[in-house]
Amino acid sequence: MKMLGIGYGDEVITVANSWISSAETITQTGARPVFVDIDPEYYSIDEKLIERAITAKTKAIIPVHLHGQAVNMEQIMFIAEKHNLYVIEDCAQSHFTEYNGKRVGTFGIAASFSFYPGKNLGAYGDAGCILTNNSDLAEKCKMYARHGALKKHEHKIEGINSRLDGLQAAILSAKLPYILKWTDERVRCADQYDTLLSNIPQIVIPRRRPNTKHSFHLYVIRVKDREGLSSYLKDRGIETAIHYPTALHNLKAYEYLNYKPDDFPVANAYQSQILSLPIYPELTDDNIEYIASSIRSYYI
Ligand SMILES: *Cc1c(COP(=O)(O)O)cnc(C)c1O
Repeated sequence: MKMLGIGYGDEVITVANSWISSAETITQTGARPVFVDIDPEYYSIDEKLIERAITAKTKAIIPVHLHGQAVNMEQIMFIAEKHNLYVIEDCAQSHFTEYNGKRVGTFGIAASFSFYPGKNLGAYGDAGCILTNNSDLAEKCKMYARHGALKKHEHKIEGINSRLDGLQAAILSAKLPYILKWTDERVRCADQYDTLLSNIPQIVIPRRRPNTKHSFHLYVIRVKDREGLSSYLKDRGIETAIHYPTALHNLKAYEYLNYKPDDFPVANAYQSQILSLPIYPELTDDNIEYIASSIRSYYI
């Protein structure tokens, strides 16, 4: 964002339910995050609500392909072109997710990927990358990540140290050939969950956006009695998690933005219903059978 010239006095739109990074990177440029509610069916930014959040100060939209589900990029790109805004895709949870046959991260001017160990393509420590087709922006980002100098001692700007650690790069290169297979395994897990959970009335299973390939970083269900279910599962050796228990506008860190909980009613309601079930390529059919039957026995 800094290398696109975004900073003080600007606004950047992102979604009310995400990891804090989607918003905190906006603030770090000096700009102001502006949240938009989530779509009740797909849990990512509700594209129908974006235009009313645009002001004369808006410079960019950051759609987040949350859980590995692609955002409606056709609508996002349409809105962005109409209002002359940059689109920066947050692909931290969506390695190799596809929208209309095209991988996410290739729609906007740039995209960010995380290689945090828990991500679909994870290093053994922290790492990440920026994707862009714009050579001018690529050059600027490289410069910024290397203290503003592409040649030693020629600091054209002030930057930061954000070099990809060599050891992490080696680990990522070794894992990369397996990622498509691992993604397919995640989809297999999701398919099986869908089959086994779809007829439990107390559970809403995740719906997949048409014409997309979901990469299932997370398999998120919605339930009413979340705490009861998660502690029941914990007693049976099944770990669950919540992504995320507090929508961004409800975080203490964003009190200064003066949002009210009901400004984003869907994100606000879902923060107490969403529950992430175990999902990773090595999860076996038997494991999933056990998890699903445990959930069923909780509700019976
Ligand atoms: C993990 C994550 C990030 C941040 O990635 P880091 O590697 O920790 O910087 C950003 N956005 C989303 C949606 C994430 O899940």
